[in-house]
Amino acid sequence: MALLPTLAHVVRDKAFRRDEGPILMGVFFLDVTGFLMSQCPFMDLCSRSWRQVVPEAGGKWASPPRLSRVNGWSRPLHSFQAVAWVTLLIMAIANFGIFIPFLPRNWKYLAYSVNGGLFFLHFLVHLIAVSIDPAEANVRFKKNYSKPVPTFDRSRHAHVIQNQYCHLCEVPVSSKAKHCSTCNKCVSGFDHHCKWLNNCVGSRNYWYFFFSVASASAGLLCLIIILLYIFIQFFIDQEELRTHPYYKKVSNKNTWMLFLPLFPVKTKTPVVLGIGVFVLLLDIVSLLLLGHLLIFHLYLMAKKLSTFDYMTQGRQQQTPKASAEKEELSLQIGFPQVPAVASSDRHSRGKEWDGVSHSAVAMGQKTEQFP
Ligand SMILES: [Zn+2]
Ligand SMILES: [Zn+2]
Repeated sequence: MALLPTLAHVVRDKAFRRDEGPILMGVFFLDVTGFLMSQCPFMDLCSRSWRQVVPEAGGKWASPPRLSRVNGWSRPLHSFQAVAWVTLLIMAIANFGIFIPFLPRNWKYLAYSVNGGLFFLHFLVHLIAVSIDPAEANVRFKKNYSKPVPTFDRSRHAHVIQNQYCHLCEVPVSSKAKHCSTCNKCVSGFDHHCKWLNNCVGSRNYWYFFFSVASASAGLLCLIIILLYIFIQFFIDQEELRTHPYYKKVSNKNTWMLFLPLFPVKTKTPVVLGIGVFVLLLDIVSLLLLGHLLIFHLYLMAKKLSTFDYMTQGRQQQTPKASAEKEELSLQIGFPQVPAVASSDRHSRGKEWDGVSHSAVAMGQKTEQFP
């Protein structure tokens, strides 16, 4: 576990030497999403498609005012959100439609029970994590979501949240609240903004988020075990994979059945092997990413930290040299030294980030969010 913070700092230190390192690589432990984004120019491009500048009163860069997002289903939707649900669909079809039916009778029922339970649990908590409005109680009950968020006037206020009052949400907020730039509202017990959920993760939905990651990791591990068994049996004794009664009607050993027992479809060996290899690779990559995220959050729990706390702590521990490099780089690419996610003075002083919003970091965005 001690490797985690060490590796995080190594990643950060390296990031400072890259043109966009502080923005893209800093999210490595914040959200797996950000890591993928930093590796994929196409996704990075997508993430910069909206709202490059903060609406600032009287400023020539001001963009039109917009509404606060309610939850993960609010617009704009995110491409990663679609990737998450499509991957879940692929895994469900592969699990229950293709590979579990290859197992011997008793193991088949056990796999249906265990994988079915994990899949149902994941689907439920994932859905709840996306659908919950993680906003502060005062935001949910007093703020009018249909009313555009006011522009922030830096000439009147030094910070978006001062003395536990948010000047954008226009309501009193708790000490742990942060104003997320992507959702444009104050989030209770802010942890991070997750692109896979397309929603903020805060105290109201943290455990749903956590069990969503944990159940997905467990389900992926079970599928890997099933796939490895099938691959091994394929080369050792193929008859072990043809125990379903339907195979009594199939004489050709090169013919396999998919979607047993409800919608049997005949196919050939190369197709089954191709699907198996594709699903195994997708499964391994997904498990590495989710497992990494799961371990990181277990580490945070042990340290009693939120993701936001961890990231801001990391900034405070930077060496003067790294800070200087970072500041220089920020100036080169035109970032003001501003806080990422607005919080109350008492919690944000000395914890200001490097000119990009927390959510912008998570999305690889270069947004000038809050002064
Ligand atoms: Zn707010
Ligand atoms: Zn958010």
